[in-house]
Amino acid sequence: MIIGIDDTDSRKGMCTTYLCALLREELSSFAKLISEPILVRLNPTIPYKTRGNASVALLIECDDKERVFRHVTEKISSMACLDNENTNPGVVFVLEDQFDSVRDKLSSFFKCAVKDVITIDEAKELASELNLEYKAFKNGRGLIGALSACGAMLDLEWDYTYEYLAYREKEVWGTRRTVDEKSLFEADRVTYPDTWDTVDLVNNMVVCVPHSGDPVLYGIRGKDASSVKKAASFVVSEPVERVCIYRTNQGTDMHLMHVSLISEIEEMHSYILEGEVSSEPITIRGGHTIFTLKDEAGDVIDCAAFEPTKNFRELVRKLIPGDRVVVYGSVTENTFNIEKIKITELATSYEIHNPQCPSCGKRMKSAGSGQGYRCKKCGTSSDISDKKEIERDVMPGFYEVPPCARRHLAKQLLRFENEVLPVFPGR
Ligand code: ATP
Repeated sequence: MIIGIDDTDSRKGMCTTYLCALLREELSSFAKLISEPILVRLNPTIPYKTRGNASVALLIECDDKERVFRHVTEKISSMACLDNENTNPGVVFVLEDQFDSVRDKLSSFFKCAVKDVITIDEAKELASELNLEYKAFKNGRGLIGALSACGAMLDLEWDYTYEYLAYREKEVWGTRRTVDEKSLFEADRVTYPDTWDTVDLVNNMVVCVPHSGDPVLYGIRGKDASSVKKAASFVVSEPVERVCIYRTNQGTDMHLMHVSLISEIEEMHSYILEGEVSSEPITIRGGHTIFTLKDEAGDVIDCAAFEPTKNFRELVRKLIPGDRVVVYGSVTENTFNIEKIKITELATSYEIHNPQCPSCGKRMKSAGSGQGYRCKKCGTSSDISDKKEIERDVMPGFYEVPPCARRHLAKQLLRFENEVLPVFPGR
């Protein structure tokens, strides 16, 4: 059977992936674990999320399904942060003899949860319609993620990567993590590009160690289980309580939808949009860099490289009106939050000066509005100003935010194959 779980944690502690790792161990005493667990990231703009809008699913084989239902729901009751207003766990069980009949609907639900916004009622209706065993705690919002994770386990057609999560011993939760930074840089040096986003070389930062009170010590992301395991073998840290390797939709751009008109864009959705830069980028208070992008209908939208994107903003500041770009990212509060940008065509820009006098070489002065230029000393005149093309300090190509600003779902440039334009990884 498949067990999908979501929404068990709060900002103060716990993590649904940790519960999944614990359950794997406990269930293995009376059930057989099949394949690696799944960790899916859903719509990144959902306001109810604690951190990365994750949910998990396990695949097991077991004769005593009642015992599994009981064990899992009791574990969630005892471990979830139920006192927290925003924690509304959900768990869904899909039995093996239901797999074929529910596959299509659950897979579509999963894809929808990554791209769209779903209501709790829609989730409850689907669970009932498909006759699934489920338990909704409190308002049951977690059912949305739990059903989606089951859909991901059943759906065989999505792109995936892997994450190795190492968890801390319980006594130290909430305290500062001890992970030797040098060992993480070494893990990256040896295993990149099979693993990624362990460190950020440009900003000289460790990226894979969280800072919140949850049980995760570090997470290594990569293309397959053996690569992430290899990278983890280099890491020197405080004692690790347990580890778990997940198959995941992280780094796949699964949240993005192609859109050609800004009028079709909806809040809380994520897109790939092509257009023309229509204003000089400006940097506002807080260090966010913003420019407007115009589509073929003439509509415009603000596009932002927010402060956490660090050096990526320097690239964005080099854009000028007329440049053609494709932006990748999410839309909230009428602003397109850029995760990647493809610069496809650079506009030509000119420096315009008064012409030089052919006799003395000095710049002529304006002879009055619409009357051209005149050299005061020599009396020479000209109607044409000097126009010099400005060399642009940026190249067409595909650019991404640095690892320290990467969103879970954003596909790393190193994962793109057959790109026509040069690729500039943000690390
Ligand atoms: P956790 O580690 O507990 O999973 P998180 O950062 O992943 O933390 P959650 O606490 O799971 O966030 O909160 C996200 C909530 O939003 C969940 O209840 C989930 O079911 C719900 N949700 C996820 N995707 C969507 C969506 N597309 N539309 C509406 N609600 C969603």
